[in-house]
Amino acid sequence: MFGISGANGIGLGYALWLNRETEEPDETGVSSFNPTTEIARLQQALESSRQQIKTLFIDATSASLVEIEVFQAHISMLEDPEFLAAIQEQISQNGMGATKAVRMVIEQYRQLFTNMPDPYFQARAADIEDIGSRVIANLQGKKPLNLKTLPPETILLADEFMPSEIAAFDRQNIKGLVARKGASTSHASIMARAMGIPAVVGCVDLTTCTIANGEPLIINGTTGEVRIKSTTTEWAKASQLKEHFRLRQQQFQAEVDQPAVTPDGHRLILNANLAHPSEVNEVLAAGADGIGLFRTEFLYLGRSAAPTEAEQFGAYQTVVTGLAGKPVVLRTMDVGGDKRADYLGIPDEENPFLGYRALRICLQQPELFRIQLRAIIRASACGPIKIMFPMVTSLEEIRQAKTIIQQVTRELTADGIDFDPNIPVGIMVEIPAAAILAGNLAAEVDFFSIGTNDLVQYTLAVDRLNPKLAHLYQMNHPAVLQLIVQVIQKAHQYGKTVSVCGEMASQPSGALLLLGMGIDQLSVSPAVLPEIKMLVRKTPWLAAQQIAKDVMEFRTVGEIEKYLKEYLDSHWA
Ligand code: PEP
Ligand code: MG
Repeated sequence: MFGISGANGIGLGYALWLNRETEEPDETGVSSFNPTTEIARLQQALESSRQQIKTLFIDATSASLVEIEVFQAHISMLEDPEFLAAIQEQISQNGMGATKAVRMVIEQYRQLFTNMPDPYFQARAADIEDIGSRVIANLQGKKPLNLKTLPPETILLADEFMPSEIAAFDRQNIKGLVARKGASTSHASIMARAMGIPAVVGCVDLTTCTIANGEPLIINGTTGEVRIKSTTTEWAKASQLKEHFRLRQQQFQAEVDQPAVTPDGHRLILNANLAHPSEVNEVLAAGADGIGLFRTEFLYLGRSAAPTEAEQFGAYQTVVTGLAGKPVVLRTMDVGGDKRADYLGIPDEENPFLGYRALRICLQQPELFRIQLRAIIRASACGPIKIMFPMVTSLEEIRQAKTIIQQVTRELTADGIDFDPNIPVGIMVEIPAAAILAGNLAAEVDFFSIGTNDLVQYTLAVDRLNPKLAHLYQMNHPAVLQLIVQVIQKAHQYGKTVSVCGEMASQPSGALLLLGMGIDQLSVSPAVLPEIKMLVRKTPWLAAQQIAKDVMEFRTVGEIEKYLKEYLDSHWA
């Protein structure tokens, strides 16, 4: 069975389903249906859920105040007589099975809370979904999976992985991921790559296949293959391939302490992307010049209220201090799209990637933005930082966002809080409008970082998450490449630096091309940084420039990719 490459590498291990939905038979009208039994099952499931939450609460010795609040809110909901009565009514009056009744009542509550004007109550919608999943898991006799302690050699299977789940994985025992949904630039794949976990995503046959927990699996995160009934020979061959992959990584590791300089002396700044403060050591071990993209939105995910200023400051301080003088680009939160946080009042949207996302949320909820900016700017007292805005489409947005920065700095000055008064401010160029207006925008910011993940989807009108369109999601499309060249030229005309922090930079072909186009900086996943550094150190800049020149002459993706592949096969493989 095949999916799409989510994160390179070979994974050998044993299947474990994360959250396979078991369809409950519809008991309505079935003669053996017994409402008393269903109500007893329901009460049992509610009690088990209550006990599980209490245990979680006791285990979480370092729980923050927000987490304690969440635990308490979940328990009160499970003890709420109205909630219980609503489910019982569906069972006894409408003849519904307990699972179906819970699903229905949870959905009613979820909608009710989502539509409330007060953001506090909107935030409760996420709690309600959480509670519903727990009660249903208990009704179906499923033990909730503890992501932090997985069995050895686990290959995790799921319909979809949430970025917040991936952050919680037991890294020791996880050997691979397979998901039915997702694509190579979905955030779950980006995180798997950063963590060096092989992943196959967009594996549509996963729903119909019959993989049981514990079944041996071989996954090839590079080709997207998932092998189910493998022979011993195949298993042995895959182990060899895995070893080959490991040795190659080891070779790349040999020069991580050297700068990313081409043999003819051109210096490229090679930064790393980071999603969580715990990744600082990996970034340093990979030999990064700094952090080119700190996806701060991950602090906002998997919870029911926004992180406080103190919490955010703690996280930013850890990263900035950990980088010991190397610069950190903090991107203001880019929630939305495939990064959901219901408490921010993000409605169910037809097109979330074209919706209420990133800077658009921040400018409509200035208080939320102000809190994040305070935490970010305060972190500038700990080391060099830069601020970057995501999803910019116009000069007005930049001006509005910069005005809020000015207000925050005035406030901090009045409060007597230390900060760097000259923090560079830049933008992501990831929407075609920003690329087209690059000249105007360059005049008003200190730097650009091109987000190819979004730039590709918006330029080509191809949803970055849709596995059916994966073949049309083309980073080397001539339209995308022309935009990138234009952005680099405009930035340089205004004397501004330009980086690429999208996944194109993490691929050898992309990095090679961008180097030749004259990019100043690349920011890549720490797992691939040593490889990209070695590639830069082995490729004369003159050769890369010639490659970029040749590529820009081609008129189809096919020609471009063939040319790049031939070059890499003969000079790099
Ligand atoms: C991008 O769009 O290329 C990018 C780096 O941002 P994200 O992947 O987080 O949307
Ligand atoms: Mg983006």
